[in-house]
Amino acid sequence: MQNYINQLSDDILEACRVAEIQDQLNSHEDDDEGEAAIQSAENFVYGDTEPLSSITGIAPIVLPPPERLTQEQKSQLAGVLEKLLIIKKFLPEFPHQLPMHRRYQFLREMWSEEFAPPLTGHVHVQFCQYIPEECPFPEYCDHCGEFDDNIVEIHSPFDEDDFNDDFDPNSFFDGPAPF
Ligand SMILES: [Zn+2]
Repeated sequence: MQNYINQLSDDILEACRVAEIQDQLNSHEDDDEGEAAIQSAENFVYGDTEPLSSITGIAPIVLPPPERLTQEQKSQLAGVLEKLLIIKKFLPEFPHQLPMHRRYQFLREMWSEEFAPPLTGHVHVQFCQYIPEECPFPEYCDHCGEFDDNIVEIHSPFDEDDFNDDFDPNSFFDGPAPF
């Protein structure tokens, strides 16, 4: 398994390298940031999403289930996956203290999701919905509790029926919705 993990890490780092080159080429082309911002907003409005795998060039099937990996292997993969995401302008919002190996399962799940590729700025990907009972990492979370009082305010303008499981109250405040 370790050989496979090393090869996969190399593949992901290669994807990082390619993405960085593309990014540099694009930044020279797109000197008109206003235009890019308009395009990005339209992207969001029209829900023009694609799988993260096609955005990053890494297929979800190559990412082993976390239960088959050691802590070190999960940390190794989480490190390169997070690096690739950041180059692609996705910012996974993990608590600062959350160990690397604990991030792997969240990153792996993201690879099966669809996103609108950010043409400008960054997409903040939230895992905590500011609901302490549902927090995926309560022992590390920087958000829960701190924002507890705001939840009523965020929800109050809407009826309960307007919500579904995919609703992310943070998306109103943080640019394009990640999901
Ligand atoms: Zn939380």
